[in-house]
This record gives sequence, C-alpha cells and structure tokens, in this order.
Amino acid sequence: MAKIVVIGGNAAGLTAASRARRLDPRLEITVLEKGPYISYSTCGIPYYVAGDVSAEQLLSFSPARLLSERNIEARINVEIEEVLPSRKRVFGRRIDTGERVSEQFDRLLIATGVKPRTSQIPGTGLGNVFSMISLEDAVRFRTVLGHSRKIAIVGGGYVGLEMAESLRRVGKQVTIFERQNQVMPSMDADMARIVEYELNRHGVGVRISSPVEALVGNDDHVTGIKAKGALGVEPSDAVLLDTGVRPNTDLAETAGIRTGPTGAIAVNEYMETNVPGIFAAGNCAEAFCLLRGRPILHHIGTVAAKQGRVAGENLAGRRSKFAGTVGTTILRVFDLAVGRTGLSLAEASAERIPTVSARIEALDHAAYYPDTKKIWIKLIVDRESRKLIGAQSAGYGDVSKRIDVAATAIMTSMTVENLSQLDLAYTPPYGSLWDPLIVAAQAVLRKL
Ligand SMILES: Cc1cc2nc3c(=O)[nH]c(=O)nc-3n(C[C@H](O)[C@H](O)[C@H](O)COP(=O)(O)OP(=O)(O)OC[C@H]3O[C@@H](n4cnc5c(N)ncnc54)[C@H](O)[C@@H]3O)c2cc1C
Repeated sequence: MAKIVVIGGNAAGLTAASRARRLDPRLEITVLEKGPYISYSTCGIPYYVAGDVSAEQLLSFSPARLLSERNIEARINVEIEEVLPSRKRVFGRRIDTGERVSEQFDRLLIATGVKPRTSQIPGTGLGNVFSMISLEDAVRFRTVLGHSRKIAIVGGGYVGLEMAESLRRVGKQVTIFERQNQVMPSMDADMARIVEYELNRHGVGVRISSPVEALVGNDDHVTGIKAKGALGVEPSDAVLLDTGVRPNTDLAETAGIRTGPTGAIAVNEYMETNVPGIFAAGNCAEAFCLLRGRPILHHIGTVAAKQGRVAGENLAGRRSKFAGTVGTTILRVFDLAVGRTGLSLAEASAERIPTVSARIEALDHAAYYPDTKKIWIKLIVDRESRKLIGAQSAGYGDVSKRIDVAATAIMTSMTVENLSQLDLAYTPPYGSLWDPLIVAAQAVLRKL
C-alpha cells in the first residue's frame, strides 16, 4: 500500500493527512513535525497570550489521538533536513535526542509554513526579542510577560495589531513602530486611520513612519528601541517582531523543487510541484490569485487549510483543484472588526487596473433598533469591466458578513450593478432595509 509522508504537522499538513486518510483507509500516513506540538490553532495565539484560552485549548489532536482516531502516525520533535526525490526518502533527526531519522515515501507533501524574514535591525538577537509564528514562540513569550511592563511591537501588520490588543488587555504598555505611514499596509490609508484611532483609544502608542534603527540592550537583554527621527531610545522590556515572514522553502530548494517568482514553492492547481509525487501546500507554497491571474503569497490559515485539503485528496489519488484566493482576511482590534478582500487601491494601481471607489459610513442595523453600531465600507471597482475587485470594512458592528458577501461577489466576478441588487437578508435587529454593502455599491455607481 502507498506510503504518504507529510512534512509539517499543522494547518496544511494535518488537513491533508486527515483528508487522505478519509478517502483511503489503506494508505500508510506519517506526519513529521519539528516542533513539540501538532494540530493547533495558530490563529488562537493572540487569545492565548491574552489569557482568554489555554495552550491546551488550542490543540485539536495529540499524536496519540491522531493515531487512535485517524490511524495517522505523527512524530513530533523530528526535523527533516533533506529530501532526496531520486531515492524517495526524507532524512532528518530528532531534535530532543539527536537520533537520525529516515522515511521512505511514495508521495510526499511539504507543508513547512513560514519562517521570520531575516531582520536587518541591529539587536534582534538580544534576549526578550520574539517572533510570533508558532505556539512554541507564544509559550516562550508568555514566560517573560510577568516581568515585562513596556512592550514594543515592530510592525503594524495583522499579527502585530492582534498582539497589541492582547498585551494591552493584560495591562502592558504597548507601542507599535511601523515604518510605513499607516498600520495594516494591506488596506488603504483612509481605512487604516480608523484602526489607528481604535488603537489610540485603547492606549496603544502608534508610531507610523517610524522605521526602527536598532534595538539596544544590557546583559544580552533588550532594554530599548531606537526609531528613526525619535529623540532618544524608548525603554522596552520586551520586543515583538512582526517584520515579515518568508516561505520555508529550504528543504524544497535543496531537493531541486522549483520556487516561483514570489519565493514560495511553485505548485499547479493540483498542489503538485515540478517533481512527480511531491506536493506542497500552505504558507510554504504559492497561492493563485484570481484577480491578478498569477501566484502570490497569501499567508493565511484559510488558504493553507484549503490547499491542504486539495493536496490530501490528490495524495489519495484523486485529481482535485485549488480554486484560488482573493485575499480575504479579518481581525479584531479591540472593539473594532477589520476586514478586507480583493485588491486595495494601491494593489489595483500596481496591476494598472483603472478604478473607481467609494467609502460609506453606516449603521450595522436599523437605526431605531437598540444597540446600533457604526461600520465603514469601502468598495473598489474596475472602471472598465465594472466588476467589484476590492472591499475593505472596519466597524463596531457586523463587518464579517459584509466582507464575506464582497469576497463571494469578487470570486464570482460580480459587477457593481449586480452587487447593488443582491437579495440580502433583513430584519431590524440584524440589518437594514438597505444593507450597508448595497449602499456602498450605490455610492460607487453614482461615480461611474
Ligand atoms: C499570531 C497569528 C495569528 C493568526 N491569525 C489568523 C487568523 O485569524 N486567520 C487566518 O486565516 N490565519 C491566521 N494566521 C495565519 C495562519 O496561522 C497560518 O496561515 C497557518 O498556520 C499556515 O499553516 P501551514 O500549515 O501552512 O503552516 P504552519 O501552521 O506554520 O505549519 C508548518 C509546520 O511545519 C513545521 N516544519 C517546518 N519545517 C520543518 C521541517 N524541516 N521538518 C519538520 N517540520 C517542519 C513547523 O514546525 C510548523 O509546525 C495567524 C498567524 C499567526 C502567527
């Protein structure tokens, strides 16, 4: 019976292993994971740091449960160091004992995620400087929280913002340093201002246009952060780096597996690499962007899981396709929900797409019904095709519904006229006669 080996035991890797098992009970499936945990919710890390949930609650399966319930062998603390396609073997070692490990495969999935981009900032090797990629990082970070009052976050992307909220909620003084002139660079500046307002409202210091020049320290521990243009060094007991990640492609590259222009492993719609029998999925692989018509990096759990599922089906002998992504994400920043899908204005301009856009402010449900909340919606439409190509929303009410409808509209190539006529649900506690998304579509139509 065919032997499947999966490198990486989280979103993409374990979704693939589970899907392959469901489709073919006869397969022999082994998952090799270098960390001490498998099958956990990375997306739940900010809530673990805030103390809302325990590390155990983030874990779905232990290796023992995976074996007994799904007949999948998962080996933790095993780092794979080499893939030899010619011999259909992987080689590595146990991190805890140093023991050499080797596994033969008929079909292989590489699902190794991302690693921190090497930072050019001097001082990132000091103690109490953290990246936040895995549960291990979060567990380590939690151990210093008790002795850290002031925490600096370098980078205002979504992980930095979620962590800012968590740290503020456990009573820390938090400052975000962002080199660009806005947080959330994947959104337009006018929408990012709403997010910055919310951060300020909750006591988070936001330094935009503030590239960090150095982290300074004593006795190997960070004590402060020096940003360009700042008069002095800002004291910090710990620093969290959200300065970017890159696809973890080292294994693939040394095995002769091709990476694409994005730097991630190049895959076709079946999640196959250029080497027969070897697949890649999740954040280490490229994701096909339906709007740009080419592969991009989209480091998000929903895409990793979908790619993993497709890879799992194909590992089990099917021919399933990954449909592609339109870049949909949502996060919470204190009381504000912030979501985006499709292209921002800057991204559309980089693709040379002529655009028309409109932003509206509305209430999330009927104005007379108690507890209405404000939301903002911005729509971006291709001026020539009149198709919706981007949506951004922030607000204190239901943003996710609007972003998800917009994502559906983008994935189905809907024009703004079609969007303005959508038959959406309404009753006063949940919506408005004219849903804010439809109002936003009407605002774009007036400009076309
Ligand atoms: C703080 C935080 C919050 C997030 N929130 C959200 C969210 O709300 N929504 C969302 O959709 N996404 C979110 N994400 C992104 C999401 O978690 C990732 O996109 C997803 O985990 C990627 O899955 P993956 O399987 O590709 O990679 P990973 O989950 O990173 O798994 C890769 C695994 O491979 C292992 N590995 C690497 N190299 C080797 C090797 N040589 N040998 C053996 N094992 C190896 C790693 O140890 C790791 O466990 C968040 C991410 C972070 C960091």
